[in-house]
Amino acid sequence: MCGIVGYIGPKQAAPLLLEALEKLEYRGYDSAGLAILGGNGLSVCKAKGRLSVLFDWTEGGATMPGTAGIGHTRWATHGEPSDVNSHPHLSHSGRVAVVHNGIVENYAELREFLTEHGYEFQSDTDTEIVAQLVDFYYHGDPVKAVRDAESLLSGSYALGIAFAAHPDLLIAVRKDSPLILGLGEGENFIASDIPALLKHTREIVRLDERELAVLTRAGVSVYDRFGDPVEKAPEHIAWDVSAAEKGGYAHFMLKEIMEQPTAIRNTISPRIKDGEIDLGLVHITEEVIRAIDKINIVACGSASYVGMTSQYMLSKMLHVPVTVELASEFRYSDPVVDEKTLTIVISQSGETLDTLFALREAKRRGAHIISVVNVVGSAIANESEDVLYTWAGPEIAVATTKAYSTQLAVMYLIALHFARLRGTLSDAALSEAVAALEALPALVEEMLGKREQMQYLASLFFNLRDIFFIGRNIDYALCLEGSLKLKEISYIHSEAYAAGELKHGTISLIEPGTLVIALCTHAPLREKMVSNIREVKARGAVVIAFTDENDASVPAVADHVIALPSCAPLVLPSMPLIPLQLFAYYVALLKGCDIDKPRNLAKSVTVE
Ligand code: GLU
Repeated sequence: MCGIVGYIGPKQAAPLLLEALEKLEYRGYDSAGLAILGGNGLSVCKAKGRLSVLFDWTEGGATMPGTAGIGHTRWATHGEPSDVNSHPHLSHSGRVAVVHNGIVENYAELREFLTEHGYEFQSDTDTEIVAQLVDFYYHGDPVKAVRDAESLLSGSYALGIAFAAHPDLLIAVRKDSPLILGLGEGENFIASDIPALLKHTREIVRLDERELAVLTRAGVSVYDRFGDPVEKAPEHIAWDVSAAEKGGYAHFMLKEIMEQPTAIRNTISPRIKDGEIDLGLVHITEEVIRAIDKINIVACGSASYVGMTSQYMLSKMLHVPVTVELASEFRYSDPVVDEKTLTIVISQSGETLDTLFALREAKRRGAHIISVVNVVGSAIANESEDVLYTWAGPEIAVATTKAYSTQLAVMYLIALHFARLRGTLSDAALSEAVAALEALPALVEEMLGKREQMQYLASLFFNLRDIFFIGRNIDYALCLEGSLKLKEISYIHSEAYAAGELKHGTISLIEPGTLVIALCTHAPLREKMVSNIREVKARGAVVIAFTDENDASVPAVADHVIALPSCAPLVLPSMPLIPLQLFAYYVALLKGCDIDKPRNLAKSVTVE
């Protein structure tokens, strides 16, 4: 969730770390801080709020001289966002500084133990016990102290640690939270993610579970949990720095919305060869695909709505039961999953902790695992039997757009590939569907042409307090995502309802002037939607409806119509979300919201 950075080298550390933290802002945070190893040991500055506060307090880092240090952007889990709860945390002796990402689950017990030994605590965080525990075990050997302390921690952690008495080294260690190292010439780095390092180095090392790294100016040594040295071959990052920048748009979100045709094309086209789908699965064989008798999709947030959309599609196309479960619930639900189950795990970051744990649970019960992930080499990708990457590129805006669309595209590919292997779709239907898939990027491009219309509609409705979304079947799943998008970035209360469910309660909320967004793309149920629109209009609602460009029934009852190009049912779900993303974007823009970094949200949710 938050960001960790660390630097040791010849340069001034504080300005460099501040800049590196900026590159991790997309991960979401509520406070930030630095600990610098200077002439007088450790100096710490930390502040609630945006990085700019820390920048001002330290005059851009100038007030904190020193050429090694650690930095942090925090997303609070234990203790409110405040100056004192911000990281780095110092041990009470001032000998050890720690930045942490994750949750120390047994912190209360450890705090009691340390209190009995005379340790005093300043903050409400779980993290402070790490600093104190390392201090407790420190008798001159920093690596041993960290290892002794770390072996007592349960939960998830990525840690960056500095010792006042050792200005020539930094220590990094991780479990269940991401952490990478950057290798430079006479300088080395710690970071939660690659964008923080690209300005300085393209040679990175990913720490595996419970590996510990000692960084000096001269080099980096990595040790496994038993203390044995591990040889880690550096990975060269070929990304263009500009790929992680805004590219001329006012916000990353708008840039990423506009990138969707390319992202979808990049995701689909390498997997279609001569009109046939080749997913490049390595471990999950055709026999396995034929033998599975259940698919369960596990994800959180928008990814779970991709799951819901796919559920309709997969069960219809493959004739197998498909369930969708929220990862945070799945893990504790004693799930009925076995070796005949395929579990599809969806996560943009590949680090979503709830999803990672759900994956492990499914695996433990024997399920085959395919993950749909955007970040190469992420924890979920590493732990899956097979990975289908969405080639969306880095997604910086907290609210997902291109990752959502590409996840959906991967689900189409899975559906068609499996339908061929299981013989549930005729050859003719298959070729037609593959052709529709190839045409998808162009259709999405066409949907981006709705930008002005959505901007206009946003100008009519941006100051409403509540907005309702209704739809049936796949349209209902799409409503959930449309509504979430709006809530996330515009802070307007919004609810998505299965349209047939309205009369069972929600209709009481409809009053004159209430905006109802009705998705009527699913042709077999369009007439039912017409009736639902009539119902809400009879109670004074204003209706924006999405329907096929050739349909006349919905325009006859709705106030505003978004006409969708006629296309194959397979790819239809990709259409309505594009204008809905734009609608949410322009509503948030008109309301003056912090679009790329909505309050209380984080991009990569690495806590349970
Ligand atoms: N659990 C820690 C805290 O609340 C770390 C949160 C984070 O990952 O930023 O301070």
